Amino acid sequence: MGILSGQDCAVAVSGAPVRADAVAAPVLAWPSRGRTPESLITLSRLDPRAPFVVDTRPLGRQPGSMRTMSRTEPCSSVLAVAMTGVPEGSPIRLDFRLEAVMEGVLVTGTAEADIEAECSRCLDPIADSVEAEFQELFRYGDDDDLIGGEPRADAEGEQEDYHLEDDLIDLEPVVRDAVVLALPLSPLCREDCPGLCAECGAKLSEAGSDHGHGERIDPRWQALRQLGDQPGDR
Ligand SMILES: [Zn+2]
Ligand SMILES: [Zn+2]
Repeated sequence: MGILSGQDCAVAVSGAPVRADAVAAPVLAWPSRGRTPESLITLSRLDPRAPFVVDTRPLGRQPGSMRTMSRTEPCSSVLAVAMTGVPEGSPIRLDFRLEAVMEGVLVTGTAEADIEAECSRCLDPIADSVEAEFQELFRYGDDDDLIGGEPRADAEGEQEDYHLEDDLIDLEPVVRDAVVLALPLSPLCREDCPGLCAECGAKLSEAGSDHGHGERIDPRWQALRQLGDQPGDR
């Protein structure tokens, strides 16, 4: 995010930067050398059938008009932080509201995703889900300088704006950012997970509460421990 600025690099779709002048070139002006500009058109236009792309036409542009939508889309690539991630292809459930405002379309909603994680204390696998809230304004723009629905950074690279493109909005970057922020950095298999023994790595939930390594035991407990070790006691 925020890597696109200035005149040279206008858009990155599928990781391939495209020069600004190529994107902006009107189709009619394309030199007719038997090559179609189709690939460039595809790069610079959202596909209405693509996951996360939402058609705002049914909403209209009358400020105040609203629509709610629910969709489930596949996670296009792994979203992960530290020990938690949303696997590629895993469904992301979206509930959101489109609202026409003066400047554009305000999208407010929640994204729910299944996560795979490792307990940060005992390293056990965890299957859980996260819910992330998002809100973003997609501005009406002037079609000539629309850039693939991607956020545009200003000269300082600070402010990012999303824009409608042909009445379509691409929720994917918004949803991805929201889900990544909602991923737990230190997931736990359970709130009171005792973790691993610092000495031998044994899982303390399985090793039992008396698990310990003699020399490190508090001497005040030593007498009790010896009592428990006496034969005939068990
Ligand atoms: Zn655990
Ligand atoms: Zn141990």
